[in-house]
Amino acid sequence: MGIFAMRSSGLLLVLGTLLLTGTAHAQCTIASKVCAVANNFNPVPKPPNNPDNKSPTCGGSVAVTPFIDAFNAASPSIRTSLCQLKNIFVSSGPQGWGRFNDPTKHGHDPHQPNDQAEDSYIAVAQPDIGNTFSQLQDQNLKLINPGVAANINHAETNTVPELGLLYAMAHELGHVIWHKQYPLGQPLHIPCYDANFASSWQHPNSGKGRRWTEFDDETIDKHPDANIRMPKAATTPAEMADIYKVYATALAGANPEEDFVDMYALEAVFSSTHCAKQNCTFAMNFSTGIPAVPLNGNRGTMIAGKRQCANTAISTLHPARQIKRQRRHR
Ligand SMILES: [Zn+2]
Repeated sequence: MGIFAMRSSGLLLVLGTLLLTGTAHAQCTIASKVCAVANNFNPVPKPPNNPDNKSPTCGGSVAVTPFIDAFNAASPSIRTSLCQLKNIFVSSGPQGWGRFNDPTKHGHDPHQPNDQAEDSYIAVAQPDIGNTFSQLQDQNLKLINPGVAANINHAETNTVPELGLLYAMAHELGHVIWHKQYPLGQPLHIPCYDANFASSWQHPNSGKGRRWTEFDDETIDKHPDANIRMPKAATTPAEMADIYKVYATALAGANPEEDFVDMYALEAVFSSTHCAKQNCTFAMNFSTGIPAVPLNGNRGTMIAGKRQCANTAISTLHPARQIKRQRRHR
């Protein structure tokens, strides 16, 4: 401050304006990004899809109000990231998806001007819109392990649909961040990942540099502690509760990528402006007498470290291309 004290008030005014715009975070008209995905675009890079040098496009308009409400409930950092997506699609489902156009696979066909390297997109499944965060947690658990899920239901103090849609969007945004930071054959990374997540996996690098990860893919890696079951293999509510001592959710316990991504999505909800204004609590409740699991409470040092890393990622990593510092190789 002292350096500028003797400069003219005109410069101070300019400086003040710069500081203001610098702290306001990049914002956008989120509604202009929201549309139905054209031609039922399937991003899964497997036959019969022809995934290289192809990107999804808008195929029609959808109701944008839920997206505006969810965007407005998000923290400034999540809003910055959502603004850097090329599109936010509504798909027919059953699952949403997130996609980062890896430079090795996209942007190489001059006849496909829509396909640009490093563009990113998310899609929310139509049936997920209008659900609360807890309803989406119930749904994930039913898809992963219906037997155990029958004895579990999630509840929250503020049952508002915008936090459900914020969760759905932030989960897919987390996949975009993951694939941007761990691209095919490139030495980028998520700086706090190894310190906070690696010990939860036998082969933590197995999640890095992948082209595509299906919902709840439990074949990628296994838990190092055999007492913590893989989510599909849990046979009792108590075994499911044990997973939540190390992993954000059952989905997070499926593989290293989902471990980071679902923690990122949960923190996007917990750090929302909505929850900053009023105390939000989210709980997983059991019908069998096991104590409720507080989803936004610290549940031991593992979860605390992961939460902190996810929050760092939310505030420092975004979908858009970043200016890279030149590195000197020694
Ligand atoms: Zn996922």
